[in-house]
Amino acid sequence: MAADPANCRVCRGPDADPGLGRVQVWEDRYWRLTTSLGGEIAGFSYLEPKRHVPHITDLDGEEARTLGPVLAKVARALKEATDSQLVYIYVFGGGIPHLHLHLGPHKNGDALNPMMIRGEVVATKLPSGATSLVSKEFPQLPESRHSEVRERIRRALTESPTKE
Ligand SMILES: [Zn+2]
Repeated sequence: MAADPANCRVCRGPDADPGLGRVQVWEDRYWRLTTSLGGEIAGFSYLEPKRHVPHITDLDGEEARTLGPVLAKVARALKEATDSQLVYIYVFGGGIPHLHLHLGPHKNGDALNPMMIRGEVVATKLPSGATSLVSKEFPQLPESRHSEVRERIRRALTESPTKE
């Protein structure tokens, strides 16, 4: 458990990059972007705050204020540099507890998984034309569970102040 910045590899900055198979390509005062040295996807990159912010749910301060513009800037650069169609962005948090956004330049047919859910997926066209994707391997939750959680989210967003 490397929740302590003193034991955090990512907090070591560029010194730890070779051991993580990547190299820094950009930085500003609060963020740095590294790009993988190998793998299936050219330009696969990692955006991390320089300060030890364990998870996206801990994001605050200048990093919270600057993430949007920084993310837009680096994603555009990756798209242009790789001539990709899209840039996928993933935040997991179950591995190294120092916030890192994975940025995967994506083209049709490449190695990136375009699905967010596991198992065999059934696609259903909705009357609106949108597509609903549902895993066959997991039970669908009852509407009561969805509405309960939706209301909790609404309450959490309206009753707690924005973290500054
Ligand atoms: Zn750290």
